[in-house]
Amino acid sequence: MIVLRSSEEIEKMRRAGRLVSGVLEMVARTAAAGVTTLELDELAEKMIREGGARPAFKGYQPDFIKHSPFPATLCTSLNDVVVHGIPDDRPLKEGDLLSVDTGAVLDGYYGDSAVSVIIGNAGLEIRRLVDVTRLALESAIGECRPGNRLSDVSHAVQKSVEEAGFSVVRRFVGHGIGTEMHEDPPVPNFGEPGNGPVLQPGMVFAIEPMVNAGGFEVEASPQRWPVCTKDGSLSAHFEHTVVITGGEPDVLTWPVGSHLGLEKSVRLE
Ligand code: MG
Ligand code: MG
Repeated sequence: MIVLRSSEEIEKMRRAGRLVSGVLEMVARTAAAGVTTLELDELAEKMIREGGARPAFKGYQPDFIKHSPFPATLCTSLNDVVVHGIPDDRPLKEGDLLSVDTGAVLDGYYGDSAVSVIIGNAGLEIRRLVDVTRLALESAIGECRPGNRLSDVSHAVQKSVEEAGFSVVRRFVGHGIGTEMHEDPPVPNFGEPGNGPVLQPGMVFAIEPMVNAGGFEVEASPQRWPVCTKDGSLSAHFEHTVVITGGEPDVLTWPVGSHLGLEKSVRLE
């Protein structure tokens, strides 16, 4: 069942979303050659807790996972890691592609967002992968209008990614979000348009294209975390928490005061 959120609930989610986008901005600003993902994780957890929230991922262990809970505040997914990378003490290197995903729970409501950043200088193909993934998310957000169907959102991602010659991951998808991190409906990044539920004001989705430079197949480690591309190709990931309104989509995880977060991801060098 897809829950329709009231305007009071949306405002609570906006506070969670703003905290998450602030954390990602901080991480994008701090990530540099020589910095470790563990250092980024510690800063992120501190910022979330100082904001009166708790990290949504730390200790996350849904019923269907029988092994270890996720141990960190950030998912830090480097190069061929698609999602669910665990922060560690290896320093980032020039040319790394780092995807950072985080969530926070504030006053019982969740925000969830991800950004991919390039460490230092990198080749054209990495930049293009990051750009295409970001634009695929923006194009999906553009379909978040009342009266459209859910698969119109999914199709927008697939179309922009495949036209650029990259592939979308099938095994992991976006999701509804609210008082749980993962709610109905699943929001795939692929599919024909015109199918699924009709979008209505009050629906809230975490839309999150995962885009591989090579094939779409992925492989999870035996511990489930992390997930890598099967062919070893690079992968990028962007995510926003988006509300369907009576008109324009309302993005709860846009950085405050600017659209800096997304643009910055490719200009950070
Ligand atoms: Mg996320
Ligand atoms: Mg998500």
